[in-house]
Amino acid sequence: MPELPEVESLRRYLVREGVVGSVFERVDVEEKPSPDKGTGAIAGTELLPGRRVMSLERRGKQIAVVLDEGVLGLHMGMTGRIDVLAPDEPIPRFTRVEFHLKNRDSHFRMVLADPRRWGMVRRFESLESIFSGLGPDALDPNLTAEQFAEAVSRRTSPIKPLLLDQSLIAGIGNIYADEALHRVKISPSRRANRISRKHLIALSGAIRESLEHALEFIQSHPDEQGRPYIVDALDDRMRLVRRPGSFCPRCEIPLRTLKFGGRTTYFCRNCQR
Ligand SMILES: [Zn+2]
Repeated sequence: MPELPEVESLRRYLVREGVVGSVFERVDVEEKPSPDKGTGAIAGTELLPGRRVMSLERRGKQIAVVLDEGVLGLHMGMTGRIDVLAPDEPIPRFTRVEFHLKNRDSHFRMVLADPRRWGMVRRFESLESIFSGLGPDALDPNLTAEQFAEAVSRRTSPIKPLLLDQSLIAGIGNIYADEALHRVKISPSRRANRISRKHLIALSGAIRESLEHALEFIQSHPDEQGRPYIVDALDDRMRLVRRPGSFCPRCEIPLRTLKFGGRTTYFCRNCQR
């Protein structure tokens, strides 16, 4: 699933490709209904022709295309990706939406390919409405380690599912939560209010390091077309190898797994307490 580093890489790619400043000419949407009317929906695209892109923002895994009137929300869901294509390039398989854009005299398309069709494309009235329900972004420079510790320390749930709660901090996904908890030797099932302030501050730093390291990794490994690399939880950006039978890089004993809300957690029973 595309997580914060992948989505931020996608945002930067769209900026590089000249999406900011361009104008929507036409939008083609596939006819099939979305599996989920709530988050998987495509809505409001008929209002896009004639609108100019003012900026591209992101909070957590949510991209906001700020227009001269309204905002277009893009969410990649489980399997979505966006490619910028020249007018004559063929559309990829599983294309759900094809945006035709024009920047000065050059025409191009932005296509959302989404095999599992959980991605979301929807027009909102304002940035506030698109980001409502999301906490501060995990890489927000204004979010301090102390604020993170303060927000987390009041909660009694295990730390792992808390880190995935997008209303608390937006953008920490399953694999990066496991990576950060391993870095600071905190068990995923420790109750948040039982973790010392010092450890929470260290955890805040480890989350940033894991996400920034992944972002750098993606930037330096583009695909053959110069497009952002797509997530692979087993590549070199991670210290934890998320595979049954893999080992703790510190203790060299097999990692254990646990499930929180259906998501598999990898951790080391020996060094994470
Ligand atoms: Zn270990």
